[in-house]
Amino acid sequence: MTASPSPIGFNFFRRRYLMDEHQSSSDYEEFDIEELEQLSTIINEQSCTTEEYYYLNDSLEDEALSTAEQNKQNYVNKNLYEMFRSDRGYLKVTDMVAPLWCGVQHSYALLDRVERKTPAMEKGTIIHLKLELETTPPKERVRTDETLAEEPWALHILLQLDGLLLLTKNGITREFPIWGFYKDSLLFGIIDELTVLKTEKDDNLLSMKDNKTRGTITIPSQSQILGSELQLMYYYHLFQEYFQNADSWWDSFLKQQDLDGKKNLGQNFLKQAIETLPSIDPKELEAHNTLSGLHALATRLTKDFQLRSLSPKLTVTYRHNISGDVIRNHIFDMNSTILNHYFHEMFAYWHNEAEPKGVPENETFKCKYCEFSERCWWLNEKAIEVWNRKRKRLYP
Ligand code: SF4
Repeated sequence: MTASPSPIGFNFFRRRYLMDEHQSSSDYEEFDIEELEQLSTIINEQSCTTEEYYYLNDSLEDEALSTAEQNKQNYVNKNLYEMFRSDRGYLKVTDMVAPLWCGVQHSYALLDRVERKTPAMEKGTIIHLKLELETTPPKERVRTDETLAEEPWALHILLQLDGLLLLTKNGITREFPIWGFYKDSLLFGIIDELTVLKTEKDDNLLSMKDNKTRGTITIPSQSQILGSELQLMYYYHLFQEYFQNADSWWDSFLKQQDLDGKKNLGQNFLKQAIETLPSIDPKELEAHNTLSGLHALATRLTKDFQLRSLSPKLTVTYRHNISGDVIRNHIFDMNSTILNHYFHEMFAYWHNEAEPKGVPENETFKCKYCEFSERCWWLNEKAIEVWNRKRKRLYP
């Protein structure tokens, strides 16, 4: 009895990995019934059992292995930082957490230049904008000199000054830019929300929050929660260093970005700063019209206003992506050990020190909604593992 090779065997086992081993039986409906019927036709025609079919089709394994390997080689051994981030010289905090959902999916999207903007993400953006407008009136600021590399960073500092003034006036600000180093990596992020809490001694303590939107009221998966926690931990680290340890990193930042902290930002920039920050003395702004000058001014204001102490209790607030209503607050502690662990994992991912990781066995639910699942090399490898395990069990 011989069975002719067919790609059906390979796809069958990919699906077995997704369904059989780790999914609940209610997921059975998701299984491709047509494929099962095709397989059973082949088995009937050849009068063999399903197990014999798997066992006899050695050539299927070769075919599957070579397809998987070929596919994989297009998506591994790439220095993603060099390819996609070295131009700007830093990673965003979101870059440090997005691949945790699935590194293989993230690398597919980068290398195939797939813009992954889902309708749910778009709804989330609208809610974020609404929240920002509630607390932070928009200000028209533009580049005044496109040739000045220092200017985009200076514009970020004007936003920080806005935020610090709002914290003193209203006790809350949203969309606060922050950057600095974690180890030797320059990171940039935008803190969603900062609020002032009073301590028992009547000192100011800042509380940090990230708003996440969801289409359902269910609790997010563990990996989603982890990504949100890490995002806030990075912001915590950056904020502490930014205002409290400026001497230790500011010069390295200027050097790394090839910026001149002492270069005057020009009259047009100054005019814009004065017009959009009316509660700061214009003379003060004029005296600080350089990148390092503005940074020193923001740092001094945090001291004058007692806005330096951060609470290590961090909050992720889940909101409904249409109404904006709060579904749940998740409060957790800053944990440097966890942050350090995942920083190294993500550093290795971006700098090609390790292969991207696909989803672990208990999270294959993610694959069902993944646009790369049909050609995913990680699933191919897992399918082969399932195949081999089954064969070993049947024919030890
Ligand atoms: S199919 Fe699954 S493992 Fe593969 S890229 Fe998509 S989510 Fe990741």
